[in-house]
Amino acid sequence: MAFDIEMIKSLYSTLGERVTAARTLTGRPLTLTEKILYAHLSGGNATEIYARGTSYVDFNPDRVCMQDATAQMALLQFMQAGRPSVAVPTTVHCDHLIQAKTGAQADLETALESNKEVYAFLSSVSDKYGIGFWKPGAGIIHQVVIENYAFPGAMMIGTDSHTVNAGGLGMIAIGVGGADACDVMAGLPWELKFPKLIGVKLTGRLSGWASAKDVILKVAGILTVKGGTDSIVEYFGPGAESLSCTGKGTICNMGAEIGATTSIFSYDTKMSDYLKGTNRADVAAAADAVAQHLQGDSEVYANPEKYFDQVIEINLSELEPHINGPFTPDLAWPISKFAAAVEAHGWPAELEVGLIGSCTNSSYEDISRSASLAKQAIDKGLKTRSEFTITPGSEMVRYTVERDGLLNTFEKMGGVVLANACGPCIGQWARHTNDPLKKNSIITSFNRNFAKRNDGNPNTHSFVASPEIVTALAIAGDLRFNPLTDYLTSETGEKVKLDEPQGYELPPMGFDVKDAGYQAPAADGSQVEVAVSPTSDRLQLLHPFAAWEGTDLKGLKLLIKAKGKCTTDHISMAGKWLKYRGHLDNISNNMLIGALNAFNEETDKVKNQLSGEYGSVPGVQRAYKAAHIGSIVVGDENYGEGSSREHAAMEPRFLGVRAILVKSFARIHETNLKKQGMLALTFANKEDYNKIQEADHIDILGLTTFSPGVPLTMVFNHENGTRDEIQVNHTYNAGQIEWFKAGGALNIIRGQIKA
Ligand code: SF4
Repeated sequence: MAFDIEMIKSLYSTLGERVTAARTLTGRPLTLTEKILYAHLSGGNATEIYARGTSYVDFNPDRVCMQDATAQMALLQFMQAGRPSVAVPTTVHCDHLIQAKTGAQADLETALESNKEVYAFLSSVSDKYGIGFWKPGAGIIHQVVIENYAFPGAMMIGTDSHTVNAGGLGMIAIGVGGADACDVMAGLPWELKFPKLIGVKLTGRLSGWASAKDVILKVAGILTVKGGTDSIVEYFGPGAESLSCTGKGTICNMGAEIGATTSIFSYDTKMSDYLKGTNRADVAAAADAVAQHLQGDSEVYANPEKYFDQVIEINLSELEPHINGPFTPDLAWPISKFAAAVEAHGWPAELEVGLIGSCTNSSYEDISRSASLAKQAIDKGLKTRSEFTITPGSEMVRYTVERDGLLNTFEKMGGVVLANACGPCIGQWARHTNDPLKKNSIITSFNRNFAKRNDGNPNTHSFVASPEIVTALAIAGDLRFNPLTDYLTSETGEKVKLDEPQGYELPPMGFDVKDAGYQAPAADGSQVEVAVSPTSDRLQLLHPFAAWEGTDLKGLKLLIKAKGKCTTDHISMAGKWLKYRGHLDNISNNMLIGALNAFNEETDKVKNQLSGEYGSVPGVQRAYKAAHIGSIVVGDENYGEGSSREHAAMEPRFLGVRAILVKSFARIHETNLKKQGMLALTFANKEDYNKIQEADHIDILGLTTFSPGVPLTMVFNHENGTRDEIQVNHTYNAGQIEWFKAGGALNIIRGQIKA
């Protein structure tokens, strides 16, 4: 199930028919995004026109990819489905858990030891269920996916926000939570809000110092970190066709930083060349045969204002290199204005570290262009003034650039090659610094630069740019250096200037690799044992949640009435807890510890109604669980907003909370709660929130006739003997009510598979 040309041909064989059906239905030409979305509707051809930005629609993705941190809980859940193998081709990539400290080899060895049990679990569970497994050191998920699995016209979901990178190869690729990945692996459709469409018309051609990264840095400046919300960004125009396939990937990758659902480019000769260059001439030939369906209709691109909700135009010939930051990726500065900004804002001008690579910028083109600058530095007698690190995106890229002498060039310049992994991009960086409190500056070719992201230090000013600009600034050691205009002084005291970078989109001698780091799954996984130690504190097998007892729920306790914002981070905090994301019991000790208790305005301090004492939220809930007493959580508006973290729904379920009653839900969290067999309810009258008292005993009535569209009743029995009876709404459809009755969606799937 790793890579299958027959599956691709099968998708393409019905693509024309589906696109024609969608065009007939809408009665107009289609964007590429619409073609792919309509072609992946669950249940076949389009029969209704979906409202952009509001309709929730079921799709059938072609692939799933997962990184090692998020894959753990997704796969533990998938094991509950009872399937012998995954329903769609799936891969796991070990990239997030390798800490950068001294260099590739030593860091990889340390990670293999410290994450031994996680890797053993992921390897064995992949082996058993037909999942392709990319070992630690094989590369960063998105670079490996674009090199091996992405193909035009497909739909993929991945448990990482930069899954969107694959839009560079013409695919709708979207980052999701582990619960969604679990559903698709188990054979269920996947729900997405039908997106709004933003068109970006690219004209002209890049030249000199400007690169694909500068396109997205500029777009981020225009749209800001929220401007792409609920939208897919489709790039088109002659400028788009001139960009390399991996350059397109860079642009799509960082589309995550404008909040876009995903970004995409139409199929063109650059994509065909990349497919051929990465040993996939058969995919290129198959795509060539249906090329007209892998592009937006020409009428759309001729009159984009008629078909997109918003249109932006950028002339690549006039595009200046950009540097974005600090602390946010949408603070965009053309390089000609950056030095003045550094001075005006008092940002530390001395550049301490330049870091190139990551999934955003680690193609052969990126590395060869940066290496051309490193070579100039050596030839012109310049010594790098900043520390400089290189993170290759995959073993295939690393092996090839080493063969071609490029890594050697960086090392001669003083660069340190890190493991093919996320490393400093995700804070896995044991940075050498004498004074962590000192304000300091770094620049990276990564995508995110929020405070503390790279090294955990709030005083680090992190800027984002192309790898070429990062390399040039690292040579200069000064943020204010503009390589387009400024001179440097060589070791011999000469004034020298860096020439424009030069590179290759694809290696002239082709890609090569000795051991890409891939492990194919067993042909028959039925005998494979999944490796989870019963004494592990990082991994724990899940057990099915109990089915509903078939009666109304009475005598529940109020666990917490949360006040104000309660995001998935308040419900299941990140940070040190991430270590336990494969161990539901241990990570449940963070349940709601960030939520504000409405009765005392404190966090993680609630009344234990059994003892009358105050304790931590998880501690009190564990006391109720031990006494076999259920509870409810009450919340405010937009409860559960933030990242789609399935732990935020699993933890209350695991600890025995029966219902979450709020003024309003963030939709994804509401769905996650339903999937886990919880009751997700909203006040019919929001003022009723004020009626709830700290020591209430609660009944939920109407469950024996639980039906779509019919409200339930809740009774709040107060300590003073009075009671309030209120109406509560829900959005369960008939299928979701079955999830509740069975104790969770996975119990239903397991039942169906057994039958
Ligand atoms: S390199 Fe950075 S952005 Fe890319 S997958 Fe890793 S952590 Fe995420």
